[in-house]
Amino acid sequence: MLQTQINKTLWGILMQGSAATQSRLWIGLLLAISALLSSLTVLAQTEETQIQAEQVAKGIYMRTGRGGNIGLSAGEDATFIIDDQFAPLTDTIVTAIAAITDRPVDYALNTHWHGDHTGGNENFGKQGALIMAHAKVRSRMTEGCVAGERSIEPAPKVALPVVTFNDALSLHVNSQTIKGIHIHHAHTDGDVIVYFRAGNVIHMGDTFFSGRHPYIDLNSGGHIDGVIKAAEVALTLGDESTKIIPEHGQLASKADLQRHYDMVVEVRAAVAAMIDSGKTHCPVRWQR
Ligand SMILES: [Zn+2]
Ligand SMILES: [Zn+2]
Repeated sequence: MLQTQINKTLWGILMQGSAATQSRLWIGLLLAISALLSSLTVLAQTEETQIQAEQVAKGIYMRTGRGGNIGLSAGEDATFIIDDQFAPLTDTIVTAIAAITDRPVDYALNTHWHGDHTGGNENFGKQGALIMAHAKVRSRMTEGCVAGERSIEPAPKVALPVVTFNDALSLHVNSQTIKGIHIHHAHTDGDVIVYFRAGNVIHMGDTFFSGRHPYIDLNSGGHIDGVIKAAEVALTLGDESTKIIPEHGQLASKADLQRHYDMVVEVRAAVAAMIDSGKTHCPVRWQR
């Protein structure tokens, strides 16, 4: 849609007639593109502002939008969020939370270090939220690192997790125990899945994308065995009606997670067989 609008604008300007001088043409072109881009930015912000949190169980919500899906527990003790998307989205996230509870965010848990999950840490940290994450999240954010071809600068102190843990975390708020369970070397080396036992909801972090193939960040210590393990662990929790919040994609069910698990296990076995037979390049196309 963006490309179509830019093309239309370019065409409109170029058709203004041969009398227009080259410089006027370029000035007009630049002004038009700049106006178009700013109007599209406003449009994107407006769309983002309109995204409300969806209730998935009593007191538990999921908010989509750009970045990872946010999990939210709102109740009498605390406002607790799982992941906080990108920094420019904080105001819209705060607005969506304010529609549910008067309490500001007390606790924020990062499921892993990626910027679409920790980008709001600095803003929420300044607003007084206690940030929690696996120890590897803090160390990666402290040191900065390379993600693909990009290098990520060290995060400011206020954005760093204050509470870190290695294996598991229990948070006792809003009349329930919320468990953070670390999965070794899955999407990264610092992943946590979060289980709301009373609410019968699991937030999977980036170990599960609903309706999409997994992404494994090898540079951050990710491994396919951990992705399989994450699904395996989650499948042992709850029951048939457990709601699964994927980090990206729509709300899912246990059956969806089982399909994802079966697919990843099958792909792993197929690739392992090819490697064992001496193949160094795998002509594999993943299908769901
Ligand atoms: Zn993500
Ligand atoms: Zn990620």
